[in-house]
Amino acid sequence: MIPVQGVTGKIIAVLGLGRSGLATVAALQAGGAQVVVWDDSPTADVKANDAGADLRDLTKQGAFDGIDALITSPGIPHLYPEPHPAIANAMAVGVPVDNDIGLFFRSFATAEWDNFDTMPKVIAVTGSNGKSTTSALIHHILEEAGRPTQLAGNIGRGVLDIDEAHDGEVVVLELSSYQTELARALTPDVAVFTNISPDHLDRHAGFGGYVAAKRRLFSEGGPDRAVIGVDEPEGRYIANQLTEGPTDDRVLRISSGQKLDRAAWSVFARKGFLSEYRKGRQVASVDLRDMPGLPGAHNHQNACAAFAACRALGIGPRVIEAAFHSFKGLPHRSQLIAEKDGVKYVNDSKATNVDSAAKALAAFKNIRWICGGLEKEGGLAALLPAPNVTKAYVIGREAAGFAMQLKGLEVEVCGDMATAVAKAAADAQPGDTVLLAPAAASFDQYDSFEKRGEDFIARVQAL
Ligand code: ADP
Repeated sequence: MIPVQGVTGKIIAVLGLGRSGLATVAALQAGGAQVVVWDDSPTADVKANDAGADLRDLTKQGAFDGIDALITSPGIPHLYPEPHPAIANAMAVGVPVDNDIGLFFRSFATAEWDNFDTMPKVIAVTGSNGKSTTSALIHHILEEAGRPTQLAGNIGRGVLDIDEAHDGEVVVLELSSYQTELARALTPDVAVFTNISPDHLDRHAGFGGYVAAKRRLFSEGGPDRAVIGVDEPEGRYIANQLTEGPTDDRVLRISSGQKLDRAAWSVFARKGFLSEYRKGRQVASVDLRDMPGLPGAHNHQNACAAFAACRALGIGPRVIEAAFHSFKGLPHRSQLIAEKDGVKYVNDSKATNVDSAAKALAAFKNIRWICGGLEKEGGLAALLPAPNVTKAYVIGREAAGFAMQLKGLEVEVCGDMATAVAKAAADAQPGDTVLLAPAAASFDQYDSFEKRGEDFIARVQAL
């Protein structure tokens, strides 16, 4: 645990008692704070009791009397579509609102570091897609390189739940836009931006707000090195703002598809090969075509981001390449489940938005595509014409409406996973891939994308 610094004798309120909220309570208590908590769920009193904190209804008038700060959880809106009543309450009376990420950056370094040979570092990863994969890949490379390392944030443990740093440790943090938007301290040593496409627009009042939330990771903390995906204008803008001039190598530009041979420092992947360039010269190259855990151009983008972040820490290209080979990938992201009668079954249940599903559709050929669920705004047109798809099998409560939008594709409305897997398997020919890449959220039929992916796996294994 990372005890929170600077809170001794203070009264701190914590809103939301999920995984990160509970870790925050414990870390604040360890730092000497008195903690009061609130959670909208009916079992808030039980959770508060378990956490050894006082329950206080923070939505009531006067609730913030005597309170020094409010720490909130990422799932709770602090601004749009509208602030949670407890957050509105805190803001109305001038109580500072922060989150566990802000507390972490304030508390991570300790006096003990004076005795270390190598200062601990933090790599923070954000972006619309590929955050988890990139974070896990960086963590894996560091492990293979023999560096002490921990993975935290949206993936792995709550950020205040990790162990205090060892000599030379590297903490890899996956950060969402909700977290970067609010944190009052954001000071990673290396900050990574994978890519950007519209998502969570309700929480940021549109795309501009979403970009601004992610940009804070670079503008607030001034990382020593920034790894930035420049395949969209927003990435190019952020990279440009951080650059002093063409020879400034504090920004490592990355791309999937573009040749970036004129930047001061760049890493890009084209046609399955990764290249690293410095000052106009190629300094490393890796063949990505045979990496089982990193299929498709989108994963090559993640590989570039991880390669660049680790190069920024001085890890050698061959060590990184070896770690790419042994990376298993994450569950529910282009995850190969089975191969039967020449047909591959791939679970990409995490493809909850159109952009990630489009990437999965580009990564395989002859696809029997299981899709559908709770649609996000913006429609499905960006997925079409989908030349790699042989046929779509649509699930979800609104399957018929979803199917209607897949113009030009052969489509079958299946409704549920069992039917979709059975039909796709019955139709599949050797060489086909049955791919779950829903392009939609799961909540109409499942509690989470994980549960949806597990259902797919169970149906495939039952075949
Ligand atoms: P995040 O943590 O940002 O949601 P994940 O690594 O969990 O990212 O991947 C989310 C979804 O996006 C998965 O469907 C995955 O296959 C897809 N994906 C992974 N990397 C990328 C990328 N670089 N660009 C687009 N889609 C990606």
